[in-house]
Amino acid sequence: MTFSIHGLAVSRGIAIGRAVLVASSRADVAHYFIDAEKTADEVQRVRLARNAVTDEISRVQRDLPKEAPHELAALLDVQLMLLQDEQLISGVKHWINDRHYNAEWALTTQFEVIARQFDEMEDEYLRERKADLEQVVERILRAMKGAGSPVQPPAQGAGRKAQQQDLLLEDSLDVPLVLVAHDISPADMLQFKQSLFVGFATDVGGKTSHTAIVARSMDIPAVVGARSASQLIKQDDWVIIDGDAGVLIVDPSPIILAEYAFKQRQGELERERLNRLRHTPAITLDGQRVDLLANIEMPADTLGAVATGAVGVGLFRSEFLFMGRSGKLPDEEEQYQAYRQAIDGMQGLPVTIRTVDIGSDKPLDRLGKAQDTHLNPALGLRAIRWSLADPPMFLTQLRAILRAAAHGQVNLLVPMLAHVSEIRQTVALIDHARAQLDTKGVAYGPVKLGAMIEIPAAALMIKVFLKHFDFLSLGTNDLIQYTLAIDRADESVAHLYDPCHPAVLRLVADTIAECQAHDKPVSVCGEMAGDVSMTRLLLGLGLRCFSMHPSQILAVKQQVLRADASKLQAWAQEVISSDDPAARLVAS
Ligand code: PEP
Ligand code: MG
Repeated sequence: MTFSIHGLAVSRGIAIGRAVLVASSRADVAHYFIDAEKTADEVQRVRLARNAVTDEISRVQRDLPKEAPHELAALLDVQLMLLQDEQLISGVKHWINDRHYNAEWALTTQFEVIARQFDEMEDEYLRERKADLEQVVERILRAMKGAGSPVQPPAQGAGRKAQQQDLLLEDSLDVPLVLVAHDISPADMLQFKQSLFVGFATDVGGKTSHTAIVARSMDIPAVVGARSASQLIKQDDWVIIDGDAGVLIVDPSPIILAEYAFKQRQGELERERLNRLRHTPAITLDGQRVDLLANIEMPADTLGAVATGAVGVGLFRSEFLFMGRSGKLPDEEEQYQAYRQAIDGMQGLPVTIRTVDIGSDKPLDRLGKAQDTHLNPALGLRAIRWSLADPPMFLTQLRAILRAAAHGQVNLLVPMLAHVSEIRQTVALIDHARAQLDTKGVAYGPVKLGAMIEIPAAALMIKVFLKHFDFLSLGTNDLIQYTLAIDRADESVAHLYDPCHPAVLRLVADTIAECQAHDKPVSVCGEMAGDVSMTRLLLGLGLRCFSMHPSQILAVKQQVLRADASKLQAWAQEVISSDDPAARLVAS
């Protein structure tokens, strides 16, 4: 029966596909399609791993000391029984043979199916067997890892999508897939970035949570904050993800399906139309040039940035190089190579590398957030505070960026500064990094130094920042969070997260005006920059540099081309001075 679930619209467009439910703890399992002729090998891989685990448990059981508690032997019996469970075995075969999932994906998918049944059981004893099944699956996964994978996952990147297309044509059983999860960490999102999903939905998250930001950068329809979506949607259900309205439609009727397929086509046509603006310079009707730059998470994202006509990278979120590596941080050489790749990718256009912004909803490791013992991570040791707390780590990054700057135009951007002491320490460490490279005789290049204005305190002492920095960049995602005391990742207060709040707009307007008065470049690199409903207002406030996901650039460019910036000035002042700027924006 058709039903809908409401959440927050975070990435535009319509996706229609079958649901793949992924538990947060299973997000690191590889997801890829295998060729039809390899299915038997893949089934065999699971069988061998299952046999190995059976042998291992049988051995443990045989060698149990006499004095071992009886419960332990009984527990091992249960696990041995689960290993032979017909539903587990036949389910895994189904996902591999009929859907061409790789072995690990098939196993975890079938686990989710059975786990759901356990959850629904009345009998508490039986309900608790889910934990045993989880352990068994975990062991099989480990055994498969140890045995190595005879089937290679397809190459990362665009090729994988193309491969999915091929599969769709080749085999009508292969259908588009949408990812449904309770939560996905930004690090895991990155993994899905090169994967085969055409849309995704999560129970938690706010519009500017980092998970939503990565979804936007993937340019696939997404809904977050859909509360109990991962409970209500079942593995393999047909789901429509309406990323414009923030709605999920589960098990749609043929009429609804047809309606959304039509909308999907309309969206594609709109994209094709916008695509024609790729090479058009972003100049307003009154001749003002506007720089539209790209936000990226990984060096490979520069491909999309150049393709869409970005005139540079305004924000490279370097922390994505640091996440999901079990604490083993990238060394200087690895970072240098990554920054160089981004610089080379932009083909002579400027690249703004932000120093690492770890913490809060971007933990170093996948489970970091849940394990975070800090009382309030958003107000704790994140971004520049984290970097200054570990000078050797920070110096490593600074040296890598300075070295990469020898190969192109690089701006170095520092997140979350609020104190003069932090500014001084940062500048001193940059000097120190240069001195270290001098001592070693290693080449490096010049960088322009910028600060993110994302804490109200920084916006209120902007004159101090202007003295120390070559340029400023407004991080409106955090500026809104900290001005309004709203956790940007918390869907329960998402309705209060308001980019148009008069206090937020006042801080944005004053920062832009101060920079203009001192002839200092200023940009907005938060999600506000890519929101077409804000473009005219920001132009009216004097902003001439916007940094956003490549997928948003053409729509914003269209707004710029239609705007008369000089005429917008007085109107923008009226809007920000009103009690209800959002209403004024809608009215005009
Ligand atoms: C911001 O806060 O607006 C910003 C661009 O940084 P991030 O979203 O990575 O915190
Ligand atoms: Mg920020």
